Amino acid sequence: MMRDVAVIGAGPAGLYAAYQLASAGLGVTVLDAQERIGEHAVCSGVIGEEAFARFGLPSQSVLNRTCCIRAISPAGRTLEYRSATPLARVVDKANFNRDLANLARSAGAELCLGRFVEASSAKRTGCFCSSARASRRLGNCGRESP
Ligand SMILES: Cc1cc2nc3c(=O)[nH]c(=O)nc-3n(C[C@H](O)[C@H](O)[C@H](O)COP(=O)(O)OP(=O)(O)OC[C@H]3O[C@@H](n4cnc5c(N)ncnc54)[C@H](O)[C@@H]3O)c2cc1C
Repeated sequence: MMRDVAVIGAGPAGLYAAYQLASAGLGVTVLDAQERIGEHAVCSGVIGEEAFARFGLPSQSVLNRTCCIRAISPAGRTLEYRSATPLARVVDKANFNRDLANLARSAGAELCLGRFVEASSAKRTGCFCSSARASRRLGNCGRESP
């Protein structure tokens, strides 16, 4: 299979990169070892308020907003900061990842799940990836060196 870009990893970073690249008109394939998006998402789900506005992140998975941060030291002392406006949103991380996957798909990115990428290499003719389940080659991701 020949694509412009292979993104390895369908976490938030890979999915958002795939969304941006596909929106720019590139042919993008995202490969991930997990069978379903978000199934192994380990995260408290707290995302800074400004990230939603700056990156246009999907907000369907938002459960709550927080205006307070409380830091607790190992000795048990606490430091609290309160703001008049929300500082962060708390999301359901699995659903957040799925929403990002839907954004990437709607921009034209292809998702290949259940594919563990064992090796990748860059050659003059393009980049090549092989996955554990079925070896596949992705070519021409990026310019060839002169
Ligand atoms: C306990 C905990 C709590 C956290 N709480 C927060 C929080 O509240 N707020 C916050 O912003 N961040 C939090 N984080 C951090 C946040 O989860 C990560 O920063 C974020 O998930 C990183 O996204 P990513 O897309 O870079 O990588 P990941 O989410 O780790 O995604 C990487 C993906 O790549 C896939 N992959 C890796 N290697 C291969 C391979 N060879 N072949 C195929 N697929 C592969 C994996 O299956 C995975 O799906 C927390 C992290 C932990 C551990």
